[in-house]
Amino acid sequence: MKSKQKGNLFIISAPSGTGKGTVINALLDKHKEDVFLSVSATTRSPREGEINGVHYHFKSKDEFESMIADNGFLEWAQFCDNYYGTPKKVVDEKLEKGINVLLEIEIQGAMKIMESDVDATFIFILPPSFDELRKRLEGRQTESEEVIEKRLETAKDELTYAEKYDYVVVNDIVENAVSNIESILNAEKCKTNKNLKLIEEVQKS
Ligand code: ADP
Ligand code: 5GP
Repeated sequence: MKSKQKGNLFIISAPSGTGKGTVINALLDKHKEDVFLSVSATTRSPREGEINGVHYHFKSKDEFESMIADNGFLEWAQFCDNYYGTPKKVVDEKLEKGINVLLEIEIQGAMKIMESDVDATFIFILPPSFDELRKRLEGRQTESEEVIEKRLETAKDELTYAEKYDYVVVNDIVENAVSNIESILNAEKCKTNKNLKLIEEVQKS
């Protein structure tokens, strides 16, 4: 009888506007059973069409700070004047059930996890170019020109962290980026240290 593996944790970061939301949604469409995207908490206001509990858990600053005090986050960070954080409990529950968990988080939060003893694989999604990043941010029409400039300024700094990640995926064409991430998910599943029980079972069989 093959032993059931725990799920793996994947941290995905990219400068705002790269298309990580688009790529992750396409990936989730193909992996409804075995991949779960953690729903973060944030103090930023919902964008048009965003639903509380689906896209984010929208919180007041006081609510967010009391979750920090209660140790309710796997990680949290401040990004462009707002708090963002990953609620811990649901992540642990999904991993225990053998489901892969994705965290779509910015760099400071990713670095906190990298420095902790949490076992995770880090994927950085790159835009094809800085010009294309600006085009995508402007094309999305969800932020003011001032916020776009701030996010582009932040992006320059964020790109310097890409080399710390385990994998880099370019979002040129969405399907290609999805396929590369699927390969990473599969590679992690096949890692020797995640299959020690299986090796033992086969030896004994
Ligand atoms: P992020 O989640 O990284 O902030 P989004 O997924 O919201 O980015 O994408 C930003 C904009 O770029 C959206 O308008 C989206 O439709 C577009 N986009 C995403 N991926 C691509 C791609 N591969 N080619 C062209 N446009 C893209
Ligand atoms: P947005 O406002 O565009 O939804 O997200 C802004 C940034 O916050 C993105 O880089 C996104 O990945 C990041 N983010 C979303 N949720 C979390 C989280 O739970 N923790 C951290 N550290 N960053 C997050």
